[in-house]
Amino acid sequence: MTETPLKLFNSLTRQIETFTPVHPGEARVYSCGPTVYNYPHIGNMRAYVFADILGRTLSWKGYDLTHIINITDVGHLTDDGDAGEDKMEKMAAQKSQSIWDIAKHYTEAYWEDVRALNIRQPAKWSVATDYIDEMIDFAQGIADKHCYELDSGLYFDVSTVDDYGKLARAVTEEGEGRIETVEGKRNSADFAIWRKTPAGETRQMEWDSPWGKGAPGWHLECSVMGGKLLGFPFDIHTGGIDHREIHHPNEIAQNQAHCCTGGLGEAENSGARIWMHNNFLVERSGKMSKSSGEFLRLQLLIDRGYHPLAYRMMCLQAHYRSELEFSWEGLGAALTRLKRIVMAVEKMRVANRGSDFDVQQAISSRMKRFDEAISDDLNTSVALTLLEGTIQAAIGQQSAEASLEKMDEVLGLGVLNLTREDLRIRPQSAEIEEEEIEAEILRRKDAKLQKDYATSDAIRASLAAKGVEVMDGDPLGWEWKLD
Ligand code: AMP
Ligand code: ZN
Repeated sequence: MTETPLKLFNSLTRQIETFTPVHPGEARVYSCGPTVYNYPHIGNMRAYVFADILGRTLSWKGYDLTHIINITDVGHLTDDGDAGEDKMEKMAAQKSQSIWDIAKHYTEAYWEDVRALNIRQPAKWSVATDYIDEMIDFAQGIADKHCYELDSGLYFDVSTVDDYGKLARAVTEEGEGRIETVEGKRNSADFAIWRKTPAGETRQMEWDSPWGKGAPGWHLECSVMGGKLLGFPFDIHTGGIDHREIHHPNEIAQNQAHCCTGGLGEAENSGARIWMHNNFLVERSGKMSKSSGEFLRLQLLIDRGYHPLAYRMMCLQAHYRSELEFSWEGLGAALTRLKRIVMAVEKMRVANRGSDFDVQQAISSRMKRFDEAISDDLNTSVALTLLEGTIQAAIGQQSAEASLEKMDEVLGLGVLNLTREDLRIRPQSAEIEEEEIEAEILRRKDAKLQKDYATSDAIRASLAAKGVEVMDGDPLGWEWKLD
């Protein structure tokens, strides 16, 4: 373990708490995963960059980490009430494809983004439809005491558990944000844990159950997979801040009913010791959405010439609990910062070649400050400046590299392996290949050496006509860029 105790903000208590594992030496984390009915937008990916930083920090501090991220391929409705359609069913109908094909396609697309953002693989990607039997068992176990049946399904009665909605802090009849309610509910916050297929209809995804053919509710999945794979109570449950309002309070109510009778004054009765939520990535125009405006997928950023790790950098520059506004200028600035780091590492390696002075002291003081920053509820923005400071100090090569490597284990930017070539991504709209640009740049250098300025200017102009800006005197040594 590192020196500084890890402190994390617990949304359940709204306090910073020192992390104390349920099982000494271990850390068990569950992160709500994507609903695979469409591509993830970069806002969704902020949730997984955050969960990744948390997981990396726990490993870095020496805990034996078991991280589960689920894949929701059934049950997530188009609104948070219970009268909407299943997002998967809806997309499958729109595209005239099977749900299974839709799920496979978008799960793979999500995994591609995970890889591109250096998000580590969890111990398991748990797929909701692999746990239907367990969900039925779980529901049966709590049905008598906590649920009631309506024509449309089996509903959880939230008045049967103590402190319902403590996580959301704002449960009032008007303030729940529920859009549609279902006839016959005892309390408007009650929610379906099993949704029956309406008579005369067939769903692509339906299973037999004691309450008739149907499909599980979304909240049930996460309770079941979290409990089954990590054991109640586990250490940390994560998700985006929207989940703090409905999905997680409902998960908590089910967990209380299942195993942990008692109120939420004891955080463990919620099923997890700590509940953590990342704030949203927003657009200036408001909420990020997959259906309106520009659909900000990671691939769109790459198509426009931004390395995906520039987006990771953008996330790390902000604290995970702050809202982060996306802008192309902001992304450009994050890319420049990453470039500066990569160039500084290059420079440091050249400058330190053969150097053998021992600066253990300087390194350990920086590492200590890095440890303090990351232990302070994952303060990645301070951690980043410490990583930069370490490079700038240009200390004895081997030990400097070792400490950079150690810092990057947490930040996951890959700064010791990235090269300037990696970072120079060709925008899809570019009409010229890199080899041609490099050849022209070389030809221009020759012309300049021979003091043939007419040729050198002509080359610059012809490159400019093809969208290539020649960057003479760029402090980073970046010789050209594509616009
Ligand atoms: P979904 O696929 O809709 O279930 O969402 C996947 C994850 O992304 C969840 O943890 C959401 O809370 C989170 N999320 C959704 N929108 C955003 C956003 N704009 N910024 C950050 N996280 C988000
Ligand atoms: Zn969930």
